[in-house]
Amino acid sequence: LAHSLPLQNQQPSDGAALAPFVGAKLFQQLPLSERTKRGLTEAKFTHMTAIQRAALPHGLCGRDVLGAAKTGSGKTLAFLIPAVEKLFRMQWGAMDGVGALIISPTRELAVQIFEELRKVGKHHSLSGGLLIGGRKDVDSEKGRVNKLNILVCTPGRLLQHMDETPNFDCSQLQVLVLDEADRILDMGFANTLNAIVTQLPKQRQTLLFSATQTKSVKDLARLSLKDPEYLAVHAES
Ligand code: ADP
Ligand code: MG
Repeated sequence: LAHSLPLQNQQPSDGAALAPFVGAKLFQQLPLSERTKRGLTEAKFTHMTAIQRAALPHGLCGRDVLGAAKTGSGKTLAFLIPAVEKLFRMQWGAMDGVGALIISPTRELAVQIFEELRKVGKHHSLSGGLLIGGRKDVDSEKGRVNKLNILVCTPGRLLQHMDETPNFDCSQLQVLVLDEADRILDMGFANTLNAIVTQLPKQRQTLLFSATQTKSVKDLARLSLKDPEYLAVHAES
């Protein structure tokens, strides 16, 4: 997430802005920054998938979203784009610290999310990092986590930083993403997730995505989302 360009195209983020974009089929029809549009175009993302068409207008308005769609349906961009746009609109900078947390069940999925984030964020000046354990020892990360704006994490490693890293500060967090929430819970991370969420500011946007809508996903949604938009996509187009 390097590069920087002049700020342009500040967009409205209020609910009134939603209506014109509900029927949009192309990313270019959404109220996105030029930087994001350029990143999407260069990555050859032009037409939205069904879950993206359903979720992006709400996510971009700042609403909480519970999105369910099968694996491979494009859920990643449905949460990355609102997260990046929110921080961009707020003119989030290096000194503002952690603005978005994305929690993923496995290292492999976190790496895939990060690769997609590099594409969407290519022309933004936001910084991003992976906190996934295994690859690096936790101490080497401690000095750097605070300077990053968007963190893609596995639950255990994130909680470890919350518990052990003295200057790790999520008090300004704007967007929380729980990706593949059903898998996070299947893997036994419910308690870890609760411990994380209770340490985050209540004033935030939360985007929860899942391949299935199980009872435990709904329980998690009740705990972590505020008046969410429920969006389930069954047949992918
Ligand atoms: P999910 O999280 O729902 O399993 P992903 O977000 O991982 O799905 O997307 C699956 C694949 O589809 C990825 O390779 C991604 O780059 C690609 N993809 C996502 N959205 C689009 C789109 N609008 N146009 C083309 N390819 C897309
Ligand atoms: Mg996914």
